[in-house]
Amino acid sequence: MFFHLTALAAPFVWSWSGLVVCLVLAVLTGQLGITAGYHRLLVHRSFATPGPVRYFLALCGVLALQTGPLGWCALHRLHHQHPEGEADPHSPHRGFWWAHLLWFMYTHPDRVGTKWRLRFVPDLARDPGLRFLDRFFLPINLLVFAALLGIGYWVGGWPLGLSLLVWGGAVRVVLIWHATFLVNSATHLWGYRNYTTADDSRNNWCVAAVAFGEGWHNNHHADPRAARHGHRWFELDTTWMFIRCLEAVGLAWDVVRPDRRRTAHLTPVPPA
Ligand SMILES: [Zn+2]
Ligand SMILES: [Zn+2]
Repeated sequence: MFFHLTALAAPFVWSWSGLVVCLVLAVLTGQLGITAGYHRLLVHRSFATPGPVRYFLALCGVLALQTGPLGWCALHRLHHQHPEGEADPHSPHRGFWWAHLLWFMYTHPDRVGTKWRLRFVPDLARDPGLRFLDRFFLPINLLVFAALLGIGYWVGGWPLGLSLLVWGGAVRVVLIWHATFLVNSATHLWGYRNYTTADDSRNNWCVAAVAFGEGWHNNHHADPRAARHGHRWFELDTTWMFIRCLEAVGLAWDVVRPDRRRTAHLTPVPPA
């Protein structure tokens, strides 16, 4: 709520620099951090990458202010184990607003503290770099907000300092929150299906556009390990393009591609 209210101040502290910083950080934290880093690299091990790249992507994910890597990945693996079921942290069967936002503000009694996560992310919890990022999630973000204010003040006084803080901080965080939350809510409610998965996941081009290719969610539930979520020629997936670039320069390997052998049991739905 605090960030939403702060974002409302955006028109009063507008600057081109603020907008550019907002967009650059949105791509860094949303596409590199949440979708490539947290989701496809850490949760689903869709590709492998050298340690420094792994930690850089995880750090970008931390800056999206959606909890640390261990907590985020544990909740998402839980979602894949029980999609739309009782244990799904953001089941759409409890309503759009629950799946979109309310679940994020609620702490389930079984998920207090950090021990419960070990059941879901024992592999990630063994990584000291990820444990560090998880533990210092809040101080790292506070440092970045202070840097935005400080650099802006240093270059252009209070007006630019506040502009970078509000646009590069609050507006950017709120935008990426909602882009990510739409994957939990909208893509389990609206869109078309390529595969007859047991859940009701959907492919939604609006969500794919704002969430860097994550909107092809029915494809993702059909073949969770694949690094590429867009399966048909028109399903643009910018995170996949980023992973392909990493692969082309030797910074990604063991990239898992969509494989019909993994989805053969899910009858393809003919195009409308
Ligand atoms: Zn899902
Ligand atoms: Zn997933």
